[in-house]
Amino acid sequence: MPTEHHADAPRPALRADLHPETVVVTTGRPAHVPDQPMNVPIHLTSTYVAGGDLEYGRYGNASWTAFEQTLGALEGGRCVSFASGIAAIAAVLDLVPVGGIVVAPRHSYTGTVGQLADREASGRISVRWVDLTDTDAVIAATEGAAMLWFESPTNPALEVADIATLSAGAHANGALVAVDNTFATPLRQRPLTDGADLVVHSATKSISGHSDVLMGAVVATDDDYAHAIVGRRSLGGAIPSAFDAFLALRGIRTLPVRLDRAEATARTLVERLAGHPALAEVRYPGFGSIVSIVLHGAEPADALVGRTSLWIHATSLGGVESTFERRRRWPAEAETIPAGLVRLSVGLEHADDLAADLLQALDAVAG
Ligand SMILES: *Cc1c(COP(=O)(O)O)cnc(C)c1O
Repeated sequence: MPTEHHADAPRPALRADLHPETVVVTTGRPAHVPDQPMNVPIHLTSTYVAGGDLEYGRYGNASWTAFEQTLGALEGGRCVSFASGIAAIAAVLDLVPVGGIVVAPRHSYTGTVGQLADREASGRISVRWVDLTDTDAVIAATEGAAMLWFESPTNPALEVADIATLSAGAHANGALVAVDNTFATPLRQRPLTDGADLVVHSATKSISGHSDVLMGAVVATDDDYAHAIVGRRSLGGAIPSAFDAFLALRGIRTLPVRLDRAEATARTLVERLAGHPALAEVRYPGFGSIVSIVLHGAEPADALVGRTSLWIHATSLGGVESTFERRRRWPAEAETIPAGLVRLSVGLEHADDLAADLLQALDAVAG
């Protein structure tokens, strides 16, 4: 069989105006030349033949790169992957100089609150806790601060931040802006486009999407920040495994279809849950796959456990399977989160099945 080698044939550059659905499928693949595999192989190696760019497994891996190119293209910046979301958050907080002030909302992921509190307790930084919904107050708090940190929508209160106004205000006060975009994903919110300097992800959630990997990422528009973040990863060693990066890339390729479906189901659930006697409130930011329902106290919320056959009682979110959790079961959760708040992570099961399963459980606890 005649073979022809096209290895030197130029591949047209990816167009900048491609839709995210196309970007997630086409980015991070080997060149379109004969006998190349369809996927970047899982590069299992601790070291490299010396003299190149990589040198050692803690500095780089082609499986990470394929994932980073894809998430970076979606967010519009340079992506650096980490062993977990919390490792990515640690790397970003490491950019705050000793003695620096960080402004952060009270309603943040408990692990983030823990990191900030821990750094403050050891005297490395000080934290100004704010209410993210009060945009003016948040901006005022950034005076003299090194960094404004927030997530939007917040976990699990689901408050949505005005990223453009907050970024402009924080920048005017000389503060860096970092946004945890885990809940919205770059398909619903692009903080870098809105003026933020750094985006953080727990790729453990919707990005990988199958509850089988822990991974995180930082995305930056500025090369100096990206270099600094790579430096933190190389020094701290919180690197993802090549296999995890492969799984995360495989997951992100279907993120648009998964999110569209989960979001449509979330909307259906919000409609069908409205006015249920077991519920004091249904919170939904209008997009995404996370819904928070508020029951009349911790007791009926805890009574949901064991009463559903499809919904799984578990922490974490963003997987193909629907899960629920009363957030205040964690002692570290903010006391301003209602005791009866149950966070729903809507998966890919049929909306009618999910609604029926949840409604019969709510009927039971409503008495
Ligand atoms: C889960 C989560 C994190 C932490 O990520 P891990 O991958 O679990 O370390 C950070 N931020 C948000 C919003 C999360 O939901």
